Amino acid sequence: MTLDLTKYIASIQDYPEPGVTFRDISPLMGDGDAYRQATNEIIEYAKSKQVEMIVGPEARGFIVGCPVAYELGVGFAPARKKGKLPRETVKATYELEYGDESALYLHKDAIKPGQRVLVTDDLLATGGTIKATIELVEKLGGIVVGTAFFIELKDLHGREKIKDYDMLCLMEY
Ligand code: 5GP
Repeated sequence: MTLDLTKYIASIQDYPEPGVTFRDISPLMGDGDAYRQATNEIIEYAKSKQVEMIVGPEARGFIVGCPVAYELGVGFAPARKKGKLPRETVKATYELEYGDESALYLHKDAIKPGQRVLVTDDLLATGGTIKATIELVEKLGGIVVGTAFFIELKDLHGREKIKDYDMLCLMEY
C-alpha cells in the first residue's frame, strides 16, 4: 500500500514568526511505515545516481540521509554549524530564510575528490542551506550527482538556486 505522505506533515501557522507556515516532518518520522516509504523513494533515487557518499546539513538533513547511507552501504558526512566539528574544516556562508546569515562546515577529509555525492535535507525553502552544502562538497572535489528532499516550498524558488543539479522532492507546497 502506498501512503499519502502529505498526511504526515503538520502545518503550523505563524511559526517561527508571524506570516510563516512551518512544515513539520516529525509526524512522518514518527510513523514507521511513512518514514520507510519516504526513505525508500530516496534510496531508489540514490541507487539510480550511483551515489558513493551522502552529505546532509544539521539536523534534519541527517534524518533524511543517514538511513539511505545505511541501506546503500555508503558513508554519511554531517555538514554542521560553527564549533561542532572538532577537526580541520571547510566553510560556506549563506543567508537564512528568515533574514540572518549563517555558515556551515564540513570536515576537510569528509569527501574524496571525484566521489559521487548525494546531498539531502528535509525541506527546500530559499535554497541557501542546500547551496552552502553543495559548495562544501565541491570545495573538497566531490561531484554532486543529486539532491533529495522530503518537501519543496515552491513559492520560495529554492529550485532556481540549484538549477544546475538534479533534484528529487517527495512533496511540494
Ligand atoms: P533554506 O535554506 O532553503 O531557505 O531553508 C531550508 C532549511 O531550513 C532546511 O535545513 C530546513 O530544515 C529548514 N526549514 C526552513 N523552513 C522550514 C519548514 O517550514 N519546515 C522544516 N521542517 N524545515 C524548514
